Amino acid sequence: MVSAPSGTGKTTLCTHVRQTPDLIYSVSCTTRAIRPGEKDGVDYFFLSRAEFEKRMKAGQMLETADVYGEYYGTPKELVLEHLAAGRDVLLDIDVQGARQIRASQEVKIKAALADIFIMPPDLGELKRRLEGRGTESAKQIATRIEAADGEMADWKSYRYTILSSSMEEDLIKFRAIIRAERYLSRRLDLHHG
Ligand code: 5GP
Repeated sequence: MVSAPSGTGKTTLCTHVRQTPDLIYSVSCTTRAIRPGEKDGVDYFFLSRAEFEKRMKAGQMLETADVYGEYYGTPKELVLEHLAAGRDVLLDIDVQGARQIRASQEVKIKAALADIFIMPPDLGELKRRLEGRGTESAKQIATRIEAADGEMADWKSYRYTILSSSMEEDLIKFRAIIRAERYLSRRLDLHHG
């Protein structure tokens, strides 16, 4: 599970990670508008509010959050199926969702969980990155900067924190964490004697 304030470069990082087969990216549901270049079912499942609420009430979401006035949520069934089959799943979710995942009583989730926070260098740099991306209005950028401040306060709840520098550096650190997590004794299923 990875969280970072919007604009940190987390989506780019996750896109790189998705190109390797060892982590299955969990495609979230959202009610926010689709951005140019995004694909339904690849970046998100873009849903109406009514459809999202229906799925939420039916218990189909592992966690949900209201981020900048839009719903976001992780579809439950697929994640649990992958974990049951021994495949690692990557969740790219906000701090509210992260709290719910940490509190999850699902045995498979508890066993699999490793959480990483990506810390932007500072709010000024975050603003520059968001402006450079050019996908949000000035008002949306202001909202995201304000939210980032609150999100950054949560970093200590995560087992790992990556201080964001270049994409390459962040990716190396990210992969090192995943690799080390796989060697945790409790994750190994060895049968001796
Ligand atoms: P964006 O709209 O820029 O794609 O994402 C905005 C924020 O929503 C990001 O912090 C992202 O991690 C978060 N987010 C994306 N999917 C989910 C999800 O399924 N659950 C939660 N709680 N947050 C999500």
